[in-house]
Amino acid sequence: MAERARELIQVLVEGKPLSKAEYLQVLTEADEQDREFAAECANRARIAQFGDGIFIRGLVEFTNVCKNDCLYCGIRRSNQDIVRYRLTQQQILECLEQGYAAGFRTLVLQGGEDSYFTDDRMCEIVAAVKTCHPDVAVTLSLGERSYDSYRRLREAGADRYLLRHETAVEWHYAKLHPPAQRLETRLECLRNLKALGYQVGCGMMVGSPYQTAECLAADLSFIQTFKPQMVGLGPFIPHHATPFAKEPAGGVEMTLLLLSLVRLTLPNVLLPATTALATLHPKGRLMGILSGANVIMPNLSPISQRDNYALYDNKANTGAEAAEGLATLSRELETIQCHIVIGRGDAPIDTSSPNTIQ
Ligand code: SAM
Repeated sequence: MAERARELIQVLVEGKPLSKAEYLQVLTEADEQDREFAAECANRARIAQFGDGIFIRGLVEFTNVCKNDCLYCGIRRSNQDIVRYRLTQQQILECLEQGYAAGFRTLVLQGGEDSYFTDDRMCEIVAAVKTCHPDVAVTLSLGERSYDSYRRLREAGADRYLLRHETAVEWHYAKLHPPAQRLETRLECLRNLKALGYQVGCGMMVGSPYQTAECLAADLSFIQTFKPQMVGLGPFIPHHATPFAKEPAGGVEMTLLLLSLVRLTLPNVLLPATTALATLHPKGRLMGILSGANVIMPNLSPISQRDNYALYDNKANTGAEAAEGLATLSRELETIQCHIVIGRGDAPIDTSSPNTIQ
């Protein structure tokens, strides 16, 4: 047991912040016992905030067309070896109906940065979802758009927005993206989303190429300051048709430690146990929950298109991560004394959160 790492985890448990250097110490010094301690504390914090309920979000991956060329991503513009697709509004609404009948009350619309989906088209889709089911929360994950675009989407009814910051370190961001994509732009988008009143999610991949423990400490420090309502974090997994094809995947243990540290840093955050984690380990989802996660995002996309939204190789998409597998998921959750919550599952309102990044 590393005493200093244990002490620092305890500081988080007591609701106090850590410096970047302290996060780094936890990340580099924590041994297996400390990681278990962090997971136990994070699991307790999850239960204190949310009881034994796990929120589900229905994920619709509605386009894999993307103008960006992120070096890690399987749907990057340069990948010529995939079948590109777009769902129609009608198809998206069909996914919604199936999800609604199954109990989903949050629809997550995620896609590449596809210029076909203009503000007019996206606003129409969001408004149509809200007209069909006013009790459904709409989460968008469409990448970087202008303040005005985010404003229009919010006015059309969008409630939440997921935009992982990917890494809080500029040189690392530049290793993962072409020069045209800049960390500052991404952060500006996050600030705009918060200012517009969205429930905002940032996050990063764990074990992405060139990432150091210092990068992850900077990510945690950023999350602590920004206070997002959601954090999406999962392991990096290589995709065969990207420049990072030969890079190793991120570690399950490190991902679990980060989930725990995020839960302890922001006790009421909405924190998914990601499909990427379930892809790397058959029990990844449950391990994620026992480390502090409280959200699962089963896939509601049409089965015929799921293979085409391949961000990384071997993506889990037939078991409990699929919306059809809700009964399986429910049984899996019972084994760890958890159950699925039918409801929007909004972030608790934290009046102490500043609405902008300092
Ligand atoms: N275009 C939107 C955006 O930029 O936020 C949403 C889609 S993007 C594909 C969603 C997330 O997938 C990214 O934020 C990234 O963290 C994750 N992702 C992409 N490639 C990945 C990989 N090889 N391994 C794990 N996660 C990956």
